[in-house]
Amino acid sequence: MTVPLTHERSSADVVVIGGGPAGAVAASLLADAGAAVVLVDRRAGAGEGGGARAGRSRGGGARAGRAARGSAVELLSGEARRLLLARLGAAALEAVPAVEIVETIARWETAEPQVTSALWTPHGRGLALERGALDASLRSHAARRGVSLVAGSVVGLERARGRWTIDVEAGRPEAGRPLRLRAATLVLATGRGAAGWSTLAGARARGRFTEMALLGWTAEPGAGSGPGAPDVLPAPRALVVEATPDGWWYALPHPRGGRFLGLSLAPAALGAALRSGLSRAELWSRALGRTHLVRALLPHREAVPRLWGAAAGAARWSAAAGPGWIAVGDAACVSDPLSGSGLLFAVASAARAAHAVIHAGPSPEGGGGAAEAYAAWVEGYGAEQADVGARFRASAVR
Ligand SMILES: Cc1cc2nc3c(=O)[nH]c(=O)nc-3n(C[C@H](O)[C@H](O)[C@H](O)COP(=O)(O)OP(=O)(O)OC[C@H]3O[C@@H](n4cnc5c(N)ncnc54)[C@H](O)[C@@H]3O)c2cc1C
Repeated sequence: MTVPLTHERSSADVVVIGGGPAGAVAASLLADAGAAVVLVDRRAGAGEGGGARAGRSRGGGARAGRAARGSAVELLSGEARRLLLARLGAAALEAVPAVEIVETIARWETAEPQVTSALWTPHGRGLALERGALDASLRSHAARRGVSLVAGSVVGLERARGRWTIDVEAGRPEAGRPLRLRAATLVLATGRGAAGWSTLAGARARGRFTEMALLGWTAEPGAGSGPGAPDVLPAPRALVVEATPDGWWYALPHPRGGRFLGLSLAPAALGAALRSGLSRAELWSRALGRTHLVRALLPHREAVPRLWGAAAGAARWSAAAGPGWIAVGDAACVSDPLSGSGLLFAVASAARAAHAVIHAGPSPEGGGGAAEAYAAWVEGYGAEQADVGARFRASAVR
């Protein structure tokens, strides 16, 4: 079921803001239940399901930046993979290039690398996926289920007499009049930068990000040999994790070849290094030189990939649901990337939130018992997650 989208008036049962994994999965499940759903995402592209576009897109520089981030690789854990397939069916992942991860090699609690085969994990193998491709595939899937996609940014949000008015535009004010959407229920799926939108809807940020990540993709295939290379390498289908004096590293095979690498470190350490005159590339090379496993994966250590930064660590908001709104994924609770559970929570929270919205009924003031039960579940999850990163870090031998 789709709604006609025009600049004059668009109305839906549910508007989902944010088309990352959490928003796209929630939108699909709500549409499956018969709701008229509009999904708004500023990264949604043309051709992802024939949706409306609010205005024009940004210039080349911004596009290049987005493209680099779009090539980021994350691990969809075995558990998250199973849950996603159970909820959406095999078609959701069919077109996503992926490398199946058969083992984890960690230099963490012991100086010697420890190898764990995916055979011994209860949920089976995870997938190293390009995030841009995963997100686009999940949005297309939602469109096939009847969700109307809108490419643009939500720039205004207001609630009166039990209904939301949502203004959407594509970045530049001169791009035209915002598209105005109206809905009874709002699903906030705006990711880890969600504080602003959650605040508008009534939640407050609680705590702040404790880590920064530097990310990069070395497009050449790894060597995994040479003097000093541990004999557990080469490991073309492994997740490699390593604790170092600078922070911690992870490496995943990139589905388009080479390795995707991340270094997570305290923002203070990153700030101090940059203030001392080190460039990001110099910081990266210096930190890489202190690794044992990760540097052995790279044939040309001196070649620094194009790097970009991301807020890492965990964060929480004061509420995951309120009158007429419910938050999913990172907009509800941000797990530490060290836990590897962000995508699992995105899918699990989307499924639970969709269930809560469907069972809340037409009560204008909000979710009733189902939404409260959902918010309590998120609260419990957040409390569990709060010190996962700290516990892992404490157990690291650097
Ligand atoms: C460095 C790093 C590495 C990670 N690695 C892993 C990993 O290997 N495995 C794992 O499971 N998890 C990992 N995570 C966590 C994972 O990335 C997140 O948990 C996941 O992206 C959450 O999905 P989401 O849909 O909630 O949010 P997002 O993926 O952030 O999606 C939010 C969407 O909202 C859109 N949006 C935001 N504001 C607006 C607006 N105003 N208007 C329109 N659209 C808007 C954005 O364009 C975006 O598409 C990692 C996180 C970091 C920082």
